[in-house]
Amino acid sequence: MHEPLTAAEYKAIAKTIELPTNAFVDGSFRPANSGKTFTTTNPATGEVLAEVAACDASDVDFAVAKAKAAFDDGRWHLQSPGERKGVLLKFAKLLEDNRHELAVMESLDSGKPVRECQTVDVADTIHTIRWHAELIDKLYDNTAPVGSKALTMVVREPIGVVGAVLPWNFPLLMLAWKIGPALASGCSIVVKPAQETTLTALRVAELAHEAGIPAGVFNVLTGSGKDVGEPIGLHMDVDMVTFTGSTPTGRRFLRYAADSNLKRVVLECGGKNPAVVLEDAEDLDLVAEQVVTGAFWNMGENCSATSRLIVHSSIKDELLERIGAYMRDWKTGDPLDPENRIGALVSKAHFDKVTSYLDDVKKEKLSLAHGGETQKGVYVEPTVVDGVTPASRLFQEEIFGPILSVTTFNSLAEAVTLANDTPYGLTASVYTGSLRKAIKLSREIRAGVVTVNCFGEGDATTPFGGYKESGFGGRDKSIFAHDQYTELKTIWIDVSERSVDETVR
Ligand code: NAP
Ligand code: MG
Repeated sequence: MHEPLTAAEYKAIAKTIELPTNAFVDGSFRPANSGKTFTTTNPATGEVLAEVAACDASDVDFAVAKAKAAFDDGRWHLQSPGERKGVLLKFAKLLEDNRHELAVMESLDSGKPVRECQTVDVADTIHTIRWHAELIDKLYDNTAPVGSKALTMVVREPIGVVGAVLPWNFPLLMLAWKIGPALASGCSIVVKPAQETTLTALRVAELAHEAGIPAGVFNVLTGSGKDVGEPIGLHMDVDMVTFTGSTPTGRRFLRYAADSNLKRVVLECGGKNPAVVLEDAEDLDLVAEQVVTGAFWNMGENCSATSRLIVHSSIKDELLERIGAYMRDWKTGDPLDPENRIGALVSKAHFDKVTSYLDDVKKEKLSLAHGGETQKGVYVEPTVVDGVTPASRLFQEEIFGPILSVTTFNSLAEAVTLANDTPYGLTASVYTGSLRKAIKLSREIRAGVVTVNCFGEGDATTPFGGYKESGFGGRDKSIFAHDQYTELKTIWIDVSERSVDETVR
């Protein structure tokens, strides 16, 4: 089903594909109130893809009013759970029918390799929507143990209007992680995709409407963080913001909430994720393969990217050699060719940021174990930098590019200290043949996801989010994500004998 097509087939789709350019509000596409647009480009070629509506605070007011009206009259959340499940399953089917077009649109807009777009981004997006749809008629509320004199119901109700502000690194998948549980819970949503990658969110909203999600329930506003993200954060009729992006922008949403209506805020932010390899790791080839995937998948433009290899000094050289061998399979080039696993970085500005860390390698006189080259001002070769210390920017800062730093340790305690020595706490991987050590490290590393003898983010059934400055207020994915999009209500009913007698009299 999600097997990639050939390069020729993808290129043919790219030639004929129709790109959405207007915001999607209240069931139809509309230009920005101001009539303004911004240019969106293909980062791999520099080619202009489209002029997209540049919305502002007046469009936010309009979309939030439509989302609120849809919520207040209950056109979505008051449908039966079975009906809503049916609509979301149809939505997932329409995404599946359009999977090749969505993969190409995602690749053109972001520079991501089309193979990954097809087999990961689009495939997981469909799975996410289906998973949350299936949950709708399987969630039960609670009663509380208050004795025979009262009946208490502890019920979940949809929180209302949700603003979702998204990053550019997984445009479709981050959208799905938000809208899956938000729509399943019965909320209305106003989505702001990142300006670099707006196209697939618009097409997804159109398909959701076609599937039967009522007008006003799922809206997408295109435009900048300042013009659209900030007014969403400050809006008095937005009940919650769910945000994925960098930690500095995430902080702003806490301020927006404090300065407006104390809306709920859930933040999924940056990471600086370690892979800790102990000297008793059982299979160094497996470790090398997993570390390479963790570090270079999606060009390292991944919040959960393995960006720090923390390895026992006795096995470092051998592991780096094997890492080099696995890196040979990671071809860099045209994102529309499914042979390539490394595509373009998302923009020239981001390319400049990532390559500034390559300049640090020279300045700090660090040694390049592998890679270090760039091509055409858009591609950065997978790079491994040896001898990085905790004082270095390479150790502390989220690079969000294909650069892996290497640091050694000599004791388990030192490994834990190094792993925890950044402001982030999103994910970590641990490689060891000892179950006891694996459990000890899993407990002592402060991160929202710890994988043992593998790299990954879990699947739709497991929560995802970070400790420390990697997150705030909740988790994406899994049944736990639903809690965020709901309020908890207590309903207390007096059923004491006195009240029965009074009723009878
Ligand atoms: P970003 O610069 O923080 O932007 C994220 C979103 O916030 C964009 O839609 C952006 O709009 C908007 N924004 C920017 N300034 C704003 C402001 N002043 N007020 C309101 N909204 C504003 O992040 P990014 O560079 O797109 O994405 C990369 C980051 O996302 C990395 O740090 C990565 O770790 C993180 N991430 C985290 C997770 C996770 O689950 N923890 C998953 C994926 C990515 P414009 O850019 O369109 O102006
Ligand atoms: Mg783009």
